[in-house]
Amino acid sequence: MTVEPTHLSKPEQLRAWDNAHVWHPFTAMQAYEQEQAPIITSAEGFELIDFEGNRYLDGISSLWCNVHGHRVPEIDAAIKAQVDRVSHSTLLGLSSEPSIELARRLVERAPAGLTRVFYSDSGATAVEAALKMAFQYHRQKGNKPEQRDLFCTVGNAYHGDTIGSVSVGSMELFHRVYGPLLFRTLSCPSPQTLRRPVGFTAEGYREFCFAEVERIVAENASRLAAFIIEPLVQGAAGILVHPPGYLRHVREVTRRHGVPLIADEVAVGFGRTGTLFACEQEDVSPDLMCLAKGLTGGYLPVAATLATDEIYSAFLGDPSEGRTFFHGHTFTGNPLGCAAGLASLELFERNKVLQNVASNSLKLRERLSVLDSHPHVAQIRQKGIMVGVELVRDRETLTSFPSERRTGHQVTLAARRRGVIVRPLGDVAVLMPAPAMPGELIDRLCDVFLESIDEATLES
Ligand code: PMP
Repeated sequence: MTVEPTHLSKPEQLRAWDNAHVWHPFTAMQAYEQEQAPIITSAEGFELIDFEGNRYLDGISSLWCNVHGHRVPEIDAAIKAQVDRVSHSTLLGLSSEPSIELARRLVERAPAGLTRVFYSDSGATAVEAALKMAFQYHRQKGNKPEQRDLFCTVGNAYHGDTIGSVSVGSMELFHRVYGPLLFRTLSCPSPQTLRRPVGFTAEGYREFCFAEVERIVAENASRLAAFIIEPLVQGAAGILVHPPGYLRHVREVTRRHGVPLIADEVAVGFGRTGTLFACEQEDVSPDLMCLAKGLTGGYLPVAATLATDEIYSAFLGDPSEGRTFFHGHTFTGNPLGCAAGLASLELFERNKVLQNVASNSLKLRERLSVLDSHPHVAQIRQKGIMVGVELVRDRETLTSFPSERRTGHQVTLAARRRGVIVRPLGDVAVLMPAPAMPGELIDRLCDVFLESIDEATLES
């Protein structure tokens, strides 16, 4: 049954229907219904515009995916031109020009050795495909079913919300409830030092985390199908920035023990850490790499799992031997999304987006440095234009604010009142501006972010 409100203005009517029928992702729905969230009707540049005409600067790139802003003429034109040709995926037995061109461009830009592109439609499906490819790869190399049936992940990992990607995730809050449904996964401790176990110095804990990678991989090498990692930054866990050399260390250990490495670049890819792909910064070539979010400039649901020749070639052979990768989604390599992806990659070059990321990353560091002495800031974490500010009641003892206070969420509400959209991860206030956002908008974002943190942490 649908709700039919009468005598309401259009925005009131939409809000009533929103509350009655739309189940929002990652949202405490009971609180949401009270909050009169803006209903966005259009966008321009880096701003969203609601029904009443209010403008909001987008400080989190939609769902961490916007790269060049909204209504970008070149991307809009590429999608419209493709609509006039064909809009449906044709990759099941056929092919399509934009999917071929995009695969070629991705292979050109990706870390060395990744030569094959398997398309899907979200970060989680790109991860699922990588996990299944790694698992099946070992079978086809002659391993027995009980061998190579385990994955290794990093504590606090987040790789998406489907059951396979949740199985290799390790965020208590999101994942605990699904425990009985998940496959077993080994976990190396996350090398973040703020909330390290008692008895460790920061340096000592870092060394311990590096040594644990070696120990866990060495002890389980013959059982491991793959090691999966978010390169450089664990995003959803609260923008946890790994110490320099950690990714390279994981690559070196996994290579030495013959364990394939899956790099999940869904969040960090497409410029967010300063390079097109985060793996570049540690000169790492993974065996499988997952891309989504920024792949189409954030416009459309196309994702990709890139694989090496070594992985791919294990799937070749007589069809009757069952070596095929029996996996595919309806929107695989959708040509509208691939056309958007090609236009987005061109804009990276033409608009020197990575240079913009470099200068905005410095600006963010400078502007947010006032928080170094804020009484309610435990840590400012930043890599490129990914920022997490951990808010606590007491920075000396790291005592958290009571969870019912929803301090991180209060930052969101305070910023929204000032015309800026941000979204926290628990009590970590997050900034994730689009890679192409102009510097003057970064300044505005910082002004509002700082004021909102002050307002949200003020204790009455
Ligand atoms: N991997 C990582 C590292 C992510 O941050 C996310 C989403 N934020 C995903 C996978 C899942 O992507 P999607 O939401 O497109 O399924």
